[in-house]
Amino acid sequence: MTITNGDARGLLSSNTEFLDHTKALEVLEKEYPERDGLDIETLLDSDKHGALTYNDFLILPGYIGFPASDVTLETPVTKRISLKTPLLSSPMDTVTEHNMAIHMALLGGLGVIHHNCSPEDQAEMVRKVKRYENGFILDPVVISPKTTVAEVRKLKATWGFGGFPVTEKGTLRSKLVGIVTSRDIQFHNNDDDEVTKVMSTDLITAPAGTTLAEANQVLRDSKKGKLPIVDSEGNLVSLLSRSDLTKNLHYPLASKLPHSKQLIAAAAIGTREADKERLKLLVDAGLDIVVLDSSQGNSVYQLEMLKWIKQNFPQIDVIAGNVVTREQAANLIAAGADGLRIGMGSGSACITQEVMAVGRPQALAVHRVASFAARFGVPCIADGGIQNVGHIVKGLAMGASTVMMGGLLAGTTESPGEYFVSNNGQLVKAYRGMGSIDAMEDKKAAGKSGKDSKASNAGTARYFSEKDRVLVAQGVSGSVVDRGSVTKFVPYLIAGIQHSLQDIGVRSIKELHDGVYNKTIRFEMRSGSAQAEGNVHGLHSYEKKLYS
Ligand code: GDP
Ligand code: GDP
Ligand code: GDP
Ligand code: 5GP
Repeated sequence: MTITNGDARGLLSSNTEFLDHTKALEVLEKEYPERDGLDIETLLDSDKHGALTYNDFLILPGYIGFPASDVTLETPVTKRISLKTPLLSSPMDTVTEHNMAIHMALLGGLGVIHHNCSPEDQAEMVRKVKRYENGFILDPVVISPKTTVAEVRKLKATWGFGGFPVTEKGTLRSKLVGIVTSRDIQFHNNDDDEVTKVMSTDLITAPAGTTLAEANQVLRDSKKGKLPIVDSEGNLVSLLSRSDLTKNLHYPLASKLPHSKQLIAAAAIGTREADKERLKLLVDAGLDIVVLDSSQGNSVYQLEMLKWIKQNFPQIDVIAGNVVTREQAANLIAAGADGLRIGMGSGSACITQEVMAVGRPQALAVHRVASFAARFGVPCIADGGIQNVGHIVKGLAMGASTVMMGGLLAGTTESPGEYFVSNNGQLVKAYRGMGSIDAMEDKKAAGKSGKDSKASNAGTARYFSEKDRVLVAQGVSGSVVDRGSVTKFVPYLIAGIQHSLQDIGVRSIKELHDGVYNKTIRFEMRSGSAQAEGNVHGLHSYEKKLYS
């Protein structure tokens, strides 16, 4: 083999002189004033290209000057509340009940509890989210000296925790006389005994006014599971639990309110009169964010509901939607929406576009609405159609502050329902659109049996057909494959987003939005064959393992 001098003349004519390599940046700046690739407006010019969705384009890489772990994903979900990760789970009865909501919040996102159930059941789920983690527990369950061991066992089964302070009157702000925990009753064989027989009375307490950090230190030093806080007369005012220190340690990204350290709770409701009663129960249970759940949010019903909530519960943040146009968004923003949910017909279990002939491709919808809403400081959720990490990043690049997922999370351990084995031997879980005949009929049946009030017709109410004799489906029901626990899957999504933003060359979602807005972040359209090229091709067989 002979080695010749390389001649990388490429498309240049054969007598072109090479330039001095040290001048590359200078030449780039002088002779190529237009950045490579397309800016967002050119990309989304629907006159030229038709309306795009996530698979139709790519984001061009930028400059990496930092490790992926430096990328922070903090982002607002409403005007007042921010999360440490941009991930939300959908208010669907096969996706988000309390278990999903608790874990999404622990992992830095948010689960929106569905309303295809009675208002009481939904409120109970909100309560479970709020009770799950605390700083000072301001309303601890307290018992009296007359409470029996059997009653304590029952309380433990009801609440899920077993540490109960004992006060003279059995209420908060009464003199603390002892504490009973699981260990005290574990081997006690006379259930009729009063707790005074088993409780500990030589208590370590901290005085009211102690800061959370100081109280935590007392708790650590005491080696006990609970720390009662008492006023100068010895009355119980609140309680601290050791397991909260561990939860705080294990879940550093958790979505919590700064003062209470409780997880943020979000739930969906409809826009009927009866939903006002439902909302009252949810607020009593500690709700922070309400999502007005309509497939077409620009309605007189939603505008009236929004105004009513703003008047009656000004402390609650309201996310309105769904919308896909500026005009829809403007109405809801004017009525005081604290956040918007974008998407119509892009959901994986959804047939709205086919049946109703309305909707909009999701990438364009997100950009049109989010770029308008940003001018009023209203954060947007890109809802539906998220199938992988790339789609999440594209939704964010289009201007969304967070993304909402249904199908992608329905196969996790934390979603409601049991796994079953499908015909081809795969482990799957049920997933259904809230506008599917299945979901709507479940609600009708519950309504007729009198078990549920009319307030609970989430499926039918969302799709405006509860008075119709014919139910028109806007969704299908099916199944999705097992994805393991969200405690593994969500960290994978987070790490994936961090690596993607690193490739783009931005350290945060804010930098991503700024770069797209000032046109330094560039895009490229993908032809059909470009899409094929971007997927695995030419292999005889392969296994697609996404993370380990
Ligand atoms: P226990 O030792 O059996 O009481 O339970 P753990 O310490 O494992 O868990 C108690 C969890 O429930 C903590 O995260 C508390 O913040 C939470 N919690 C919420 N409300 C209450 C309450 O009223 N009493 C107690 N003991 N825990 C509560
Ligand atoms: P952090 O970043 O979540 O720790 O929040 P802060 O910086 O506001 O924490 C202030 C104090 O609150 C620290 O002593 C934390 O350890 C403590 N803290 C934070 N979350 C919790 C919690 O859920 N329960 C308890 N008991 N303490 C907490
Ligand atoms: P558990 O592990 O969930 O049962 O809860 P703890 O670690 O709080 O309680 C273990 C034992 O210590 C039980 O017998 C409690 O009654 C007792 N205990 C809890 N707090 C105190 C305290 O402040 N002082 C004393 N002497 N005992 C306590
Ligand atoms: P996915 O993440 O599965 O692609 O989409 C979830 C989203 O689909 C939900 O958040 C919701 O907006 C939407 N959705 C849920 N059920 C239905 C339905 O029956 N019909 C329609 N059109 N959309 C649905």
